[in-house]
Amino acid sequence: MTPRVLVVDDSDFTRTLIVRTLERAGFEVLTARDGAEGAVMALHERPAAVVTDLEMPVMDGYQLLRLLKSDPSSSHLPVVILTSHGEAPSRFWGLHTGADAYLTKDYEASELVDTVRRLVAETTLAAQPAVEPPQGPLEVLARVARQLDSNLLSATLVNTLLEHGMGVDDLHEACERCLATIAEVVDAPLLVVGLSEPEAVYLHLRLSQALPLKGVERAANAVLSAIPVNPGAVVDAQVTGPREAEGDVELPDLEFLPLPLTSTSGMLAVLPRNPQQFETVSRHLVQGLLPHLAVVLDNARLSQRLRELSSHDGLTRLLNHRAVHERLGEELARSIRFDRPLSVILCDLDLFKRVNDTYGHLAGDAVLRAVAASFRTTLRTSDVIGRYGGEEFLVVLTESELEAARQVAERLRAGLAHREVPLPAGGSLAVTASFGVAARNEVPAPGSAEALVSLADTRLYQAKAAGRNCVRP
Ligand code: GH3
Ligand code: MG
Ligand code: MG
Repeated sequence: MTPRVLVVDDSDFTRTLIVRTLERAGFEVLTARDGAEGAVMALHERPAAVVTDLEMPVMDGYQLLRLLKSDPSSSHLPVVILTSHGEAPSRFWGLHTGADAYLTKDYEASELVDTVRRLVAETTLAAQPAVEPPQGPLEVLARVARQLDSNLLSATLVNTLLEHGMGVDDLHEACERCLATIAEVVDAPLLVVGLSEPEAVYLHLRLSQALPLKGVERAANAVLSAIPVNPGAVVDAQVTGPREAEGDVELPDLEFLPLPLTSTSGMLAVLPRNPQQFETVSRHLVQGLLPHLAVVLDNARLSQRLRELSSHDGLTRLLNHRAVHERLGEELARSIRFDRPLSVILCDLDLFKRVNDTYGHLAGDAVLRAVAASFRTTLRTSDVIGRYGGEEFLVVLTESELEAARQVAERLRAGLAHREVPLPAGGSLAVTASFGVAARNEVPAPGSAEALVSLADTRLYQAKAAGRNCVRP
């Protein structure tokens, strides 16, 4: 069958020239004198390719292109721009709008024919038209306007997302800001970002409506099973928005949208209020946002990691010596200013040298990581914990008198003593630690961090002397 080509150009002379060239090459040719007429004809006649001028009355070539490329029944249709405009911006915009080729009017006849032949040959067969073709130029113009408006919405959304999310050096904060933006256009009671790194999994759940915690937990688990999770990875989860502690409810299925992140895998999960509406209205919009969301999250991840490198210990991911000392200084000053209690716990693993000597340094490192993970789960997120030295940890407890701090230390001790640490080469090992606790109001110079830690250290020494695996006082 002879392929039909639609030629759209307002100049009778140019049109005749193009028609002759194409007909000589064996094409059947249809013609239109401006973009609107061209659109009606393209959508009704369904030619194999379109060759269009850019500047035309009523509707120009860019708008014709935009309309054809956005309509699922014509998006496959190859469009060649043939124009006297050789300038870079119009070439950029033409190709950006979706043109398959851009020829200027000093073209060789053979170049046009070859281009059209190649594009027609490359085109796969069209799906049946999903949308009714427009009845006249006015309807065409209305469709282009709607299309422009929807593009403007997407561009505005992307802009808002980037504006709110870029420059944030905390992954959860970046997630929160991005999800807040998405929640403005997608009707979803729950939005989740799941991000998987070898050592940590980040889950950020944002509720825009109160849901029972049980349902939220199931959603979190569903996201965890949708991303690869390393067995040793810690889960860093944050839930924001209204929650209900009580009750349970069967939530609809989550929609999973993979995030194109650079060096890790991640997922956006949406719990739509109305799944059918999500499919018809929101999915397309969210899909367009994913690359930008990925850029924001990649950026936040890198910034956060840079920040952590200077303040965190690489092995345990706890604060390093300098950072935990800094935090102690700040919290101590605050506790004095507001006359609030503060305590510290100094902890040292028992007979740790033996672990290294018996099982090797790698096993020792694994134990240190496991101890850090155990402490992290026992403590509240507001508590400050750092790796003070080799196998020593310092915990700063704000709003805690000596007795309360002693109880926390006892919980940390018991948490360790009651489970074995799996070793990298197989098998497992029981690990214990000794603890020294001191409160701010016990030391003569209450503003001195050194005096406070030194008292805790003395008591830690007493715990060791008392046979280890205990808390002093
Ligand atoms: P005690 O109960 O009296 O504290 O005995 P200990 O063996 O724990 O005491 P010591 O201070 O003699 O030994 C501490 C050991 O901790 C020495 C060192 O090999 C080990 N260590 C310190 N930092 C690291 C580390 O980053 N990785 C590993 N694998 N071992 C470490
Ligand atoms: Mg020790
Ligand atoms: Mg030690």
